[in-house]
Amino acid sequence: MRVFEIFRSIQGETTRAGVPMDFVRLAGCDLACSYCDTPAARRADAGRNMTVADVLGALPSPPLPWLMITGGEPLLQVEELNRLIAALIESGRKVVVETSGAHPTEMLDDRAVRILDVKTPGSGMGDRVCWSNLEHLRPDDEVTFVLVDRADYEWACHVVERHGLLERLPVLFGAARGRLDPRLLAGWLLEDGLPVRLNFQLHEYLRLP
Ligand code: SF4
Repeated sequence: MRVFEIFRSIQGETTRAGVPMDFVRLAGCDLACSYCDTPAARRADAGRNMTVADVLGALPSPPLPWLMITGGEPLLQVEELNRLIAALIESGRKVVVETSGAHPTEMLDDRAVRILDVKTPGSGMGDRVCWSNLEHLRPDDEVTFVLVDRADYEWACHVVERHGLLERLPVLFGAARGRLDPRLLAGWLLEDGLPVRLNFQLHEYLRLP
């Protein structure tokens, strides 16, 4: 599989924000979000080829319970991805996979937690959302929205309501860095009494990878 980088950090987002984790970032992404913060990882030939054994051998030690596989877009390498998930779970790790939501998640090993990003119109990739993914989410999965403005916020609120997401699993709204002030977003959530979580990029605040 094509791996961009492997590192250890503090999880900055999702309900596991603050949890020390290992990260495997796979290379290659077929989207071009307007706020992409990992553009170097989008190239399919970025990073290097590694086997599952190579990845396991490159993980920091001592092992941490949680490991996140991110990208790029991990689902572009779904066969290798599933082999890696299986090996990690068999070695006692808990695995989270972060995906752009542009590809069907049914192919993903069921044992991995899914963090499904729903691309908003402001991302420039709103027409790439694979809507059927929302129907296959489980209670332990999570849905995230990265918002660039008020129009994105209102669109995301509509999606959350239309799919009954709040009754099914954790929903997180985050502000695109440099595009939307997170304090403004926090104010909208409080004004509207919307019980979604604010997704704050804790790792950016800590200046960690
Ligand atoms: S899906 Fe992720 S990696 Fe791909 S362009 Fe969007 S933000 Fe960047």
